[in-house]
Amino acid sequence: MNIDLTGKTALVTGASRGIGEAIARRLGETGAHVLCAARSVDRVNQIASEIGNATGVALDIAAPDVRERVAALVKERPIDILVNNAGITEDDLFIRMKPEAWANVIRTNLDSAFPITQEAVKKMIRARWGRVINISSVVGLMGNAGQVNYASSKAAIIGFTKALALEIGSRNVTVNAVAPGYIQTAMTDALNEEQRGKLAEHIALKRLGTPDDIAYAVVFLASEQAGYITGTVLNVSGGLYT
Ligand code: NDP
Repeated sequence: MNIDLTGKTALVTGASRGIGEAIARRLGETGAHVLCAARSVDRVNQIASEIGNATGVALDIAAPDVRERVAALVKERPIDILVNNAGITEDDLFIRMKPEAWANVIRTNLDSAFPITQEAVKKMIRARWGRVINISSVVGLMGNAGQVNYASSKAAIIGFTKALALEIGSRNVTVNAVAPGYIQTAMTDALNEEQRGKLAEHIALKRLGTPDDIAYAVVFLASEQAGYITGTVLNVSGGLYT
């Protein structure tokens, strides 16, 4: 199966490292033009220049002007594929969780999806072709102690995915979510070897995932071949949660 997205433009948020960087690189290999967005502008420019058919974009998805920034991007170059990937954690036990930790995580992981997706899908609807792929987490499906804020944001993005899929399916725009398990990135680097070993015991495939494990799932959902899949959550957790 050959996935060819030549002529399409993809916006990947949080493309400066980890899962988003891998998604940007793998989408670039399909021929799509990739807008690599994050706050670390030097890093996204570097990644974009390595991809070739890509552009680095400075974008803070939690900033009040995010809607205007995305609208300007779309005006310049309509987005066919949107990957809402950027996300943060601010873990704490619920009883101790500060209101800021709740607000920051919800603002970044959930609230940002509203203006960004709304601006991007207008053109997709007009073009009668589009792909929205939201990066959720298995934590949004199964919960996790110490992550009430994060799990809430990741569960909510699944509801967002399913409802939007029903609204815009008739315009040939698909909306799906990917739920990664534990993936080796800066987000999980805080774990030591012992903690990683313990985690792996609970994973059917006995290893943490790689950013590419997620990127290939995203590329598939972005492809022409996945055109009959919408409103679904693709669990890419190595069997951590089934
Ligand atoms: P990293 O911490 O490695 O990278 C996060 C990315 O998000 C960076 O590129 C960062 O860029 C960007 N980002 C964070 N805040 C903002 C912001 N306000 N505006 C723009 N960009 C921002 O995370 P991962 O790659 O591990 O995670 C990517 C996604 O996958 C997240 O949504 C995460 O919740 C999800 N996920 C990760 C799992 C894991 O095990 N790693 C498991 C399940 C889900 P910069 O700082 O340059 O702005």
